[in-house]
Amino acid sequence: MTRTAEIISRCQDLFDDLHFAYAREWKAAVPGRKVVGFMPFYVPRELIHAAGALPLGILGGGDQLEVIHGDAYYQSYICRIPRSTIELGVGGRLDFVDGMLFPSICDVIRNLSGMWKIMFPKVKSRYFDVPQNYRDDIGGEFYVNELNELREMLAELCGREVRDDAIRASIALYNENRRLVREVYAFRARQPWKAPSSEVYLLMRAGMILAVEEHSRLLREYLEAATSEERPRRDNSRVVVTGAFCEQPPLNLIKSTELSGCYIVDDDFMLVNRWENSDVPVEGDPLRNLALAYLHNSASTSAKYEPDQAQKGAYLVEAVKRTRAEGVIFAAPSFCDPALLERPMLQHVLAAHDIPYIAFKYAENSGQMQPIREQAGTFADSIKLWSER
Ligand code: SF4
Repeated sequence: MTRTAEIISRCQDLFDDLHFAYAREWKAAVPGRKVVGFMPFYVPRELIHAAGALPLGILGGGDQLEVIHGDAYYQSYICRIPRSTIELGVGGRLDFVDGMLFPSICDVIRNLSGMWKIMFPKVKSRYFDVPQNYRDDIGGEFYVNELNELREMLAELCGREVRDDAIRASIALYNENRRLVREVYAFRARQPWKAPSSEVYLLMRAGMILAVEEHSRLLREYLEAATSEERPRRDNSRVVVTGAFCEQPPLNLIKSTELSGCYIVDDDFMLVNRWENSDVPVEGDPLRNLALAYLHNSASTSAKYEPDQAQKGAYLVEAVKRTRAEGVIFAAPSFCDPALLERPMLQHVLAAHDIPYIAFKYAENSGQMQPIREQAGTFADSIKLWSER
């Protein structure tokens, strides 16, 4: 087995484990340790880490979990992630999780946060609001207050004060992690045949479970191993995948997209791993630094308000240029309001820049990949045949 295969095999085991053995063992290793779950797309993991807890990304049940109870709580015409998350909770798979954060991404997650409070009263649950105004004195002030309230909640949960110095140390660790994540993405964009997206995806998913120090080590090892391994280079088309920032596509969808002739050179599967575009300053007031990084130096996505109409979709065009992509695949979960309402506006921007695109929907348990392969394959071929890019 090659070194990359070994690393990815470990990530696959973490990905497949819906009982979260790693997090359970981490918690059991030291009495009093706490685990704080969070849902997509972003939470300030630095604060959870500084409180001494393990941030654990809860990204639904994937295609292996049979959803029975979860369906009873929801109508059929919404996305699947809240249903499979309820299933994880009701089935006892999250019984070791002490706190849950529900970021303000959409009404579904907002409602889920209320349901969680009623269904699991012993878990400290919080709907975590982020600013929709980007002025320092309005959105910034608001967000510093939110962060302070979260700090207090975590201090109560973990039974210790969350000091500024601890937050600064955590920011430094997450800065390093984000640098490595950016490096992996840049490496894949340069030589996508050496870092298949199914591997990069599993590597990023591991970051939702592992302690940050361990994940950084894994990223470093992967970069080193992937750089030195030779792999066959294909004549694939280079694409950016967008819209998949919450409910995750099945791993097979990512594999099928690659097998159909596409190199994914950028994506938004795991935004929390690369939310800030560059290092968050370590000196000074750490909460203010986190707040300002959110306001002025963070990723753009359909789930985040864009006040300037002229800037709508600019991030997607920039991603295409930066990664030398030849087209964009809009892949969004069925019934996902943030992704699907924004899609026509983003398509309009791409069309204005003469960037080809296709669009499809999925569910985390989609099983039939043939239509995806046909669409993505035809798209890849059409880029090769007709695109002048
Ligand atoms: S998939 Fe979309 S609609 Fe569903 S919870 Fe996530 S952001 Fe909300």
